[in-house]
Amino acid sequence: MPSPARPHRCAACDEPQRSDRDPLVEEGFHHDVVFHLSCFNSPAAQAWRARAMAADPAYRRFTELTTEELPVTCPGCGEVHAVSPKAVGMAAGSWNPNCTRCHRQSPEALSWVHRAQDVASALFDTIPKLFLGPDDLAALRPELERARPAMEQHSKLIEALEGLRGDYLRGRNLEAIPRRMAELAARHDPPGEAGDCPCGGRYSLSAPSRCPGCGEVLLDSLFHDVCPP
Ligand SMILES: [Zn+2]
Ligand SMILES: [Zn+2]
Ligand SMILES: [Zn+2]
Repeated sequence: MPSPARPHRCAACDEPQRSDRDPLVEEGFHHDVVFHLSCFNSPAAQAWRARAMAADPAYRRFTELTTEELPVTCPGCGEVHAVSPKAVGMAAGSWNPNCTRCHRQSPEALSWVHRAQDVASALFDTIPKLFLGPDDLAALRPELERARPAMEQHSKLIEALEGLRGDYLRGRNLEAIPRRMAELAARHDPPGEAGDCPCGGRYSLSAPSRCPGCGEVLLDSLFHDVCPP
């Protein structure tokens, strides 16, 4: 491995943290490797990653699969499309399932989102009451109790999806991922009409990303979206 990990020193510039506004952040794959926020995409950091990728196939896999707009050549038609990790950054939580037959992606997020939205609007309705007095706070309790199952289901699902994603990115138990995802899909795929794709397929968590041109599976991943051109 290149640049042996030195805790609390930036792997790019070898300096310790300089200020709170430029913290040392974990590199992602190696928890003991940190970069200054300002160094994260610097030429030195890119050189560090290039060396690490050459030395370690597991790190190469992780880095490629966490790249935004990774170019992927379609095995069916040879077109190059960009794919990005699903539900990360600003879109975290938006696990919009792909179609089982075509390249389309559900315009709706998962079923729990509908439930969570119901809960959120119920809570917003009660917020003005917060300024009215303790009796009204007590009145809020049933709303929170009503919200609890959907919120717990939401967190459990996201936790399960992130657990599967972690295994996928690190190449662990890859053969078990389709079965584990199928179990989640059976419980959480969009129900009824919300799951219907115009092509006749169904939107499902267990559907991979497909080529917008020919419909072939573009990347053997349940954790990526094909970027619009
Ligand atoms: Zn640095
Ligand atoms: Zn294609
Ligand atoms: Zn479809």
